[in-house]
Amino acid sequence: MAHHAALSPSRAKDFRQCPLMFRLRVIDALPEPPSLEALRGTLVHSVLEHLFDLPREERTNAAAQELLEPRWHDHVAKHPADAALFADEAEFEEWFASARPLLATYFQLENPQNLQPRARERFVNATLPSGLHIRGIVDRIDVSPSGAIRVIDYKTGKSPTPRFQESALFQMRFYAAALFLVEGTLPLRTQLLYLKDGRTLTYDPVAADVDSIAMELDSIWSAIEERLDSGAFETKRGPLCSWCAFQRYCPEFGGETPDIDAAGIEKLRTAHA
Ligand code: SF4
Repeated sequence: MAHHAALSPSRAKDFRQCPLMFRLRVIDALPEPPSLEALRGTLVHSVLEHLFDLPREERTNAAAQELLEPRWHDHVAKHPADAALFADEAEFEEWFASARPLLATYFQLENPQNLQPRARERFVNATLPSGLHIRGIVDRIDVSPSGAIRVIDYKTGKSPTPRFQESALFQMRFYAAALFLVEGTLPLRTQLLYLKDGRTLTYDPVAADVDSIAMELDSIWSAIEERLDSGAFETKRGPLCSWCAFQRYCPEFGGETPDIDAAGIEKLRTAHA
């Protein structure tokens, strides 16, 4: 195994969902249509991150709603093209208003006045015993007075059905293992907060998760490497194909797959964390 690449939970998830989709997204870096849903997720995450800049007693739903506008202006200053994604003012207003109930739901799930996060939007970068780098961004890390760590991730979509819960929790097991490797302490609890339907998915990691996640990620990377060597990334048709932006390049849907990008292969093999 070459020990240079870095895997994130989303890359690993993409590969497990469909090797061809992973290839087209990560190696060929083909453009995908911008998603207003993803943009709304970015905006809501930004509000929840900055909510904790306020003194505890000011962390209310009203304050969060007021943060929407400045966070949007800040986002547009950094990504001006995103302001042009809306056909007209009415479409923008409707989209902007759709972020409000998500923030209101957040306050039904927890009271931020009782929390003092140790970290927000924390970049975690760890190395597995095999040498494989793993990395990702954790939305929030709380630490109790006794030192117990809790990892929180906000999701602006609906909570998964039981069939997809394992895949959702993979991300949290991944972060728990990464934090253990970096800090030597296993988080006591990980939670996914789903702001669309107000549900929380909780997973309490166990020590064995570190080894099992390491084995899982090493095995995913080996499978990716095999395909990098052969250049053959197969399709894996499933229910999520309906949301795949690459159907026109996919033989399952009558599309023609372009040649793989050699520079993209090299970049993936040598992408240091
Ligand atoms: S449409 Fe489905 S099978 Fe084809 S690349 Fe996308 S996820 Fe894979």
